[in-house]
Amino acid sequence: MNREVGLLSVVAPMYEEEDTVDPFVERVEAALGDLDYELILVNDGSKDRTRDAMAAAAARDPRIKIVSLARNFGHQPALTAGLEHATGDVIVMIDGDLQDPPEVIPEMLARWREGIDVVYAVRQQRLGETAFKRITARGFYKTFRRLTGLDLAVESGDFRLMDRKALNALLAMPERNRFLRGMTVWIGFSQMAVPFVRQERHAGVTKYPLRKMLRFSFDAITSFSSRPLQWATFLGFFFSLVAFLAIPLTVIARYANIFERGVPTTIIVVLLLGGIQLITLGIIGEYVGRIYDEVKHRPLYVVGERINFKEPADR
Ligand code: UDP
Ligand code: MG
Repeated sequence: MNREVGLLSVVAPMYEEEDTVDPFVERVEAALGDLDYELILVNDGSKDRTRDAMAAAAARDPRIKIVSLARNFGHQPALTAGLEHATGDVIVMIDGDLQDPPEVIPEMLARWREGIDVVYAVRQQRLGETAFKRITARGFYKTFRRLTGLDLAVESGDFRLMDRKALNALLAMPERNRFLRGMTVWIGFSQMAVPFVRQERHAGVTKYPLRKMLRFSFDAITSFSSRPLQWATFLGFFFSLVAFLAIPLTVIARYANIFERGVPTTIIVVLLLGGIQLITLGIIGEYVGRIYDEVKHRPLYVVGERINFKEPADR
């Protein structure tokens, strides 16, 4: 198969990346050369000059389109906003901080031309990220794969290229808790990896501190697996069994006069069981909270402004 690209859409979310907008636009332009493309920059409610830098770029080049969200909605909703505004036959999602080099896009396109529908970039090496981040990230991918059974490649991020039919399948998933890289695997189609070296941030700092990373990982796992709920059930059964076995033991111990002072043991057992109950209740709560988020049916994001779109999308 040898497909021809009509229009290529490149979608990049940016949150407080004022110093990266211009270099990013330049690198994309240089990397894509004469290809027919549109570059959709999503300003995720930045409080710095990101929006103005984007607007200036869009004024120079009509291929650059801006979606400015009404506030900071977060990386995954911002990315979704960009994807929903893309009109291309082939779509690339890429981080807007230049950690994902735009120069990899032509290589991804080559795989698409050969007939692959989803081409994901895999980090061979991560520059400028702490050992802690590398280790926790690896741990996360491994855990995610084991718990969900989803074939999400270790070290693959959101940097990926998708055929229009794959994107449409992705956008048909209306869930609020979005783990886009997992969802692009879940939809199926032919998938292939392209290796790359994850660069250092061009400027600024990560918008994913540990707290947000943990939340994101839990979001990812809960949106693809209800295994944690099964752990809760398992713990329940396990401790009931222990208690059940303890009944004859205490009777025997009573008559053999083995246990005399049971106060510390009792306290430990009460605390342990109380702790386990709270944890399992918490796990259930996490799911209930997410169910609540889903049933509210709120839009994923609110658009504040659009630049260089021919007709404002009617949503
Ligand atoms: N981002 C966003 N909204 C947010 C947080 C991040 O649009 O609330 C963007 C950010 O500007 C960057 C991309 O998402 O282009 C990835 O975020 P970041 O670089 O902070 O994450 P990391 O690469 O450190 O995992
Ligand atoms: Mg980054």
